[in-house]
Amino acid sequence: MNCPQCGAENMRGAEKCWQCGTRLNAEPEPRSRNSVIVWSVMAAVALAAILMLFLATSGGGGGGGAPSSIDSTASAVATSTAPAVK
Ligand SMILES: [Zn+2]
Repeated sequence: MNCPQCGAENMRGAEKCWQCGTRLNAEPEPRSRNSVIVWSVMAAVALAAILMLFLATSGGGGGGGAPSSIDSTASAVATSTAPAVK
């Protein structure tokens, strides 16, 4: 494509004119801007997920009681189910 500013021939998809530095092809710009928005949204979601995970693990009150209670429940279920299966 030719530079609209100076008329120099540039490679297709070139960002700037090699001769005068004028920005070429305005078409790919919205797409890249869209991808930036998508990536920022994904980063925000990932950050929120990490934050929620961090709060869930650190908000258990030391983390000593919750796992053991889950363990005892699981073992109780296992022992109550064991006799039923002959
Ligand atoms: Zn130019």
